[in-house]
Amino acid sequence: MEVLKPVKRNILLNPGPSTTTDSVKYALVIPDMCHREREFIDIMDEVRKELVKIVHGDFYKFSAVLFTGSGTIIDDVCINSLVPENKKVLIINNGAYAKRMVQIAEHYSIPYINLEFPEDELPDLNRIEGTLKKNVDVGLVAGVHQETGTGILNPIKEIGEIVHRFNHPFVVDTISTYAMIPMNIEEMNVDFIMSSAQKGLVAFTGLSWVIGNREIIERSKNYPKRSFYCNLYNQYENFERGEGMPFTSPVQLVFALRQAIKEYWEEGEEARWKRLNRCWHAVQRGISEMGLENVIDPAIQSHLVTAVKAPKDPRFDFNRFHDYCYERGFTIYPGKMFKQDTFRICNLGQITEEDINNFFKVAKEAFREMGLDIPVK
Ligand SMILES: *Cc1c(COP(=O)(O)O)cnc(C)c1O
Repeated sequence: MEVLKPVKRNILLNPGPSTTTDSVKYALVIPDMCHREREFIDIMDEVRKELVKIVHGDFYKFSAVLFTGSGTIIDDVCINSLVPENKKVLIINNGAYAKRMVQIAEHYSIPYINLEFPEDELPDLNRIEGTLKKNVDVGLVAGVHQETGTGILNPIKEIGEIVHRFNHPFVVDTISTYAMIPMNIEEMNVDFIMSSAQKGLVAFTGLSWVIGNREIIERSKNYPKRSFYCNLYNQYENFERGEGMPFTSPVQLVFALRQAIKEYWEEGEEARWKRLNRCWHAVQRGISEMGLENVIDPAIQSHLVTAVKAPKDPRFDFNRFHDYCYERGFTIYPGKMFKQDTFRICNLGQITEEDINNFFKVAKEAFREMGLDIPVK
């Protein structure tokens, strides 16, 4: 991919969008093209196959269905399209993104069970099993792989084993782990995996997808159609007829995504995961040098998002800290927890250990500017 002129590189340490390569940025620049042209639909179909391959799925068994929108659109699609009439969705909730699924069910007046767990712990498998035993009217189970608000990685494979024992379909929001943590959809005991272009694949916001079991999608044909634009079966059926999306597709975003997938395979799934892990270890070293602490026990972290306890010192001001780093090319993000003052350092995207080390140089300067000692007390 030709890069005409390097673009200023910002290091995004927020939970998506992430730092992209210039080759992905330049892939947006193409001759104008109508989304109904065979040439484009073929490219989109090729991209769909690649998206299934990333989770080691069999294309005959799983289809990738794309929608135009940020990641939440795909949570919306899965919840509103996959619950049969007179059935409930069971949502396993230990954080902000599961809570969002609860809000979606609420919005569509879909009966749901909100199975809540503390937001700094893993869900209790016995309680999940007990709830499924008691509630025979469950028709779908939904969970989140990484709760991006805290950085907890949930035991999806173990939960999926239980869900499948009760013969329920299992949909999982893997938006903040897909194309970062290597996954195999069938080995994970999952039927629907979600993702969005601006996270692990490191392309641009505006394109999201679900990789879903074809049999279950086909079964959903006669489920209540709760949304006109965001119905999974309708979108799937249009793709399967060879016509792509029913409405105008984001042509340029698909080209950028195709380039990002090419770069994913060039790096390799194991190599990418190793690089991101090196970044996380650099974050852990950095916070410990600064005298800062994790919110979540590192043993249950994803290694992609670190939630950090804000210093108790009254001189600490998150906005000042943020602005100091932002002016120097590093973007950090406030926390998403209910009770504590936290902030997050995320290592998604096309960044390296060296970028993280450079960030900590700036972070230490910012702390000194605020009058804090390092390590903080
Ligand atoms: C980023 C993210 C989403 C999508 O959020 P948008 O702001 O709509 O892109 C959904 N779920 C998880 C777990 C995420 O990390």
